[in-house]
Amino acid sequence: MEDEILEIAPEARVPAGDDSAGFWKKLKRGLFMTHTEIVEKMSAALTGKAVLDEATLEYLEEVLIQADLGVDTALELIERLRRNALKEQAASVESLRKMLSDEVADLLQAAPRPRTFGQGPMLTLVVGVNGVGKTTSIAKLARREQLRGEKVLLAAADTFRAAAIEQLALWGERLGIEVVRQGQGADPGAVVYDAIHAARARKVGQLFVDTAGRLHTKDHLMAELSKVRRVIDREAPEWQKRTLLVLDATTGQNALAQAKTFSQVAAVDGVLLAKLDGTAKGGMAVAIARELKLPVLYLGVGEKADDLIDFRPREFASALLG
Ligand code: GDP
Repeated sequence: MEDEILEIAPEARVPAGDDSAGFWKKLKRGLFMTHTEIVEKMSAALTGKAVLDEATLEYLEEVLIQADLGVDTALELIERLRRNALKEQAASVESLRKMLSDEVADLLQAAPRPRTFGQGPMLTLVVGVNGVGKTTSIAKLARREQLRGEKVLLAAADTFRAAAIEQLALWGERLGIEVVRQGQGADPGAVVYDAIHAARARKVGQLFVDTAGRLHTKDHLMAELSKVRRVIDREAPEWQKRTLLVLDATTGQNALAQAKTFSQVAAVDGVLLAKLDGTAKGGMAVAIARELKLPVLYLGVGEKADDLIDFRPREFASALLG
């Protein structure tokens, strides 16, 4: 990790998500590669065309599939476009972008909504394969709650890798947030037990639990996560609980496969899509929401603690295509 991660941009000093200028800047940065790729191909396909012919529509379908929006979603979008475009006789890039952006927003609005939570302390179990950006994402979430004035605690329950514990501890130090940890190889259930009791004693409002993300076998993963989950259910009955899956947007179809596996072994409440800024396949957020029926809650758009934004369907569609 580099030192510049330490820097907290001025816009992060107000709660993330409430700062609309900062939000748009980050969203556009996150979708820059995907947006550029789609729009450039779209422009090239439409140059010199007065009407939207069938060959162009088929090419556009391919462009959307390549941006990882999902095959079913791409087909549906092109079908909607076919109906609308014929009606409007539109072949300009601007009108097409506007139409597509509206259609994507509609599809996303119809996707499953995140669960709502009431008052009271919240425990977030963070799951995901090693290397997807789990530790960094936990730091970002913690930072955001800290800026909202919440008391935050982190639990290093990925006890397989010493590096994972160290990394989380380092973030804790940087952000001034306590990290409950034990040595490598310790029982993750014991770490979670300690963390819940420490959180209760210190009146913590937000507890984030890092978990091991080894995907050797599904059974292994399930056993590991259920062990942690059992301790949580027993020790924190009064807490609100959610399971957040971190996926790496740069891994494309692999991330979708991981989402399927994790949904089978744990009740995933939502997805944090990390490294959106490093890929031209950012359409994956649409595929996750629509085809896997998992609510996308957050987007990771950089390596710094404040590079996290909420997933908002209409704004996402607009930054993707508009
Ligand atoms: P973990 O093994 O899943 O805990 O992954 P880490 O949190 O250690 O992250 C792996 C790498 O991805 C690190 O170099 C992070 O700085 C980087 N990373 C994490 N999230 C993002 C993001 O949203 N954007 C970019 N560009 N890099 C990220």
